[in-house]
Amino acid sequence: MTHPIGLITGASRGLGRNMALHLAKRGVHIIGTYRSGASEAETLRQEIEAVGGKAAMLALDVTDTTSFPAFAATVSETLKTEFGRDRFDYLVNNAGNGLFSNFIDATEEQFASLVATHLQGPVFLTQKLLPLIADGGRVLNVSSSFVRFTLPGYSLYAAMKAAVEVLSRYLAVELGERQIRVNAISPGAIETDFGGGAVRDDEGVNAFVAKGIALGRVGLPDDIGCAVAAILSDDMAWANGTTFDISGGQLL
Ligand code: NDP
Repeated sequence: MTHPIGLITGASRGLGRNMALHLAKRGVHIIGTYRSGASEAETLRQEIEAVGGKAAMLALDVTDTTSFPAFAATVSETLKTEFGRDRFDYLVNNAGNGLFSNFIDATEEQFASLVATHLQGPVFLTQKLLPLIADGGRVLNVSSSFVRFTLPGYSLYAAMKAAVEVLSRYLAVELGERQIRVNAISPGAIETDFGGGAVRDDEGVNAFVAKGIALGRVGLPDDIGCAVAAILSDDMAWANGTTFDISGGQLL
């Protein structure tokens, strides 16, 4: 059996980690990246291999575009030595952090950091990795429900994610020739370390957010990880150039 290979940025924690586990359960081999969480990434690698999967973990800071050519070379080498392949099949641009500020107080440094992490990183990482993505593969970008609804403090973050959704549609057209599907997911509030972990750790915030979700609770990493595994599967191969809202019906 040929196993597809998925490369997930920011796989050391949170949603990326969970996506890796759900994809591995479906037989997808994983190349995960970490920035500071080398030991967390190694734990994930062991967990995947313990259940019969295969994984390699590579260091990557998505804000450091100068490192991308060397990263692509490492991916190419890893594909050959660890997986016996020249190409991988799924790229998930997931890595990111929350950086929130009321518009009136936002600084140019915050803006530059958001651009670097959430837009410039995914743009040029995808560009550098495209020769390593197999024809018929997938690119999945991680957006946010903040694009669809508004909350004070999230304007610049949401603007980055909106750009990523538009980029996904345009890339779907440019990569159609190679049968590469490009989509985005737009998760609602999920219990991770994101934003200091407030949705997960602060009961008041958790209850407030849950009230705005049709299904009456905030999301868990599993809600996103299994959706991503489904979206990347062949069952969803006709979905292209679209954004999937995965929020339990948040602020409808
Ligand atoms: P977490 O804070 O739990 O995890 C963030 C992950 O991204 C970690 O693996 C971290 O690596 C990695 N990371 C952060 N900055 C960089 C960087 N500059 N370069 C490389 N890797 C980096 O966040 P989530 O898992 O919740 O978020 C994942 C994605 O989902 C983000 O794009 C976020 O915007 C989006 N999102 C999250 C929602 C939520 O409610 N949780 C809702 C909607 C969207 P390390 O720890 O190794 O440094």
